[in-house]
Amino acid sequence: MSDPIGLYIHVPFCVSKCPYCDFYSLQGQSPEVMDAYTNAVIDALALWYQKLGGVSADTLYIGGGTPTLLGGKRLKRILDKATKLFKLKNAEITMEANPGDLLDEVFSAFASAGGNRVSIGMQTCDDAQLRFLRRRHRPQDVENAVAAAHACGINNISLDIMLGLRGQSVKSVVFDISRAFEIGASHVSAYILKIEEGTLFYQNRDTLFLPDSDECAELYLAACQTADMLGYRQYEISNFAMPGYECRHNIKYWNLDPYLGIGPAAHSYINNTRFYYEQDINLFLKGVMPVHEQDKPQKGNHNIHEHENEYIMLRLRLDEGIKYNEFKAKFGRDIPQSVIDRAKELPSHLISVDNDGIRLTRLGFLLSNTLICKLLYD
Ligand code: SF4
Repeated sequence: MSDPIGLYIHVPFCVSKCPYCDFYSLQGQSPEVMDAYTNAVIDALALWYQKLGGVSADTLYIGGGTPTLLGGKRLKRILDKATKLFKLKNAEITMEANPGDLLDEVFSAFASAGGNRVSIGMQTCDDAQLRFLRRRHRPQDVENAVAAAHACGINNISLDIMLGLRGQSVKSVVFDISRAFEIGASHVSAYILKIEEGTLFYQNRDTLFLPDSDECAELYLAACQTADMLGYRQYEISNFAMPGYECRHNIKYWNLDPYLGIGPAAHSYINNTRFYYEQDINLFLKGVMPVHEQDKPQKGNHNIHEHENEYIMLRLRLDEGIKYNEFKAKFGRDIPQSVIDRAKELPSHLISVDNDGIRLTRLGFLLSNTLICKLLYD
């Protein structure tokens, strides 16, 4: 493998469990467990570096969970090891953080070890909605978190915003995106709340009284239009960036480029193979290796190979969509004509097809799952 890969490190610790969250995270872990986890990550980095023949990386994303709970010293050990092995030359190095936590020391250690981007879980500026989400922070904490990052020289700041909350209005979405801009976000991710099985919200789904799909569409379009007006470019269904601030790490996922995930529940895609660590910290601490994903049963159009299918699905999340020449360069053959023919049959206000490729429109993004199924499986 000659091109640099993306590195992901999953930190599975949180202060408490948010009722909508289905990420793998544990509460109330001792400093000893955090030390053991840090050692296990460092060992895994060394092991994988060797296994992959000394590959380099140009993005590192430390997500979770709540990575900042590790504290500055442990994070610095991990970053130093990753940099020493995988070079991380001119790399984008991101860490997730929650407003309201103690961030000064940890941001400072992160920046001094090469960290240059933070992704902060703002969710909303509306205090009542934050309480509905049982977030621990208050609206003012977001500004303090951004200021703490700026004070360490980190100016590449992404804020997560949630759409589809109970009682959320277009006005409050416009306010949230505008506030993110005012306090200096170079990047905004705006996701519609999805109720996942296994969460507390799922158990209580009949009493949540969330906006219906039409109302969510209205909130989403308001978020997109506000972002446009403020100078952000929508480069993916849920992601908006000032020019040059697109998330390089996440773009690797959508391009089906190789990435290595380390930590319990972390997924990887290397040499056209997907594998993942089990959601079990004890297995990770014991050094148990990842398991390979089962091949998905091939459904629908059998002329399209599994990885081509995945590529089409992922690339249609991007505003660029699928480019025929890039598809050919990646897979060594033209995109199947059947995909182009089906795209041409779909309404042009949802999907655009020209001589260069296929892309979803903004309205098409709202129906992306249905449209992708029609392209690939109908
Ligand atoms: S802080 Fe983030 S990762 Fe942790 S439970 Fe809440 S949403 Fe999930």
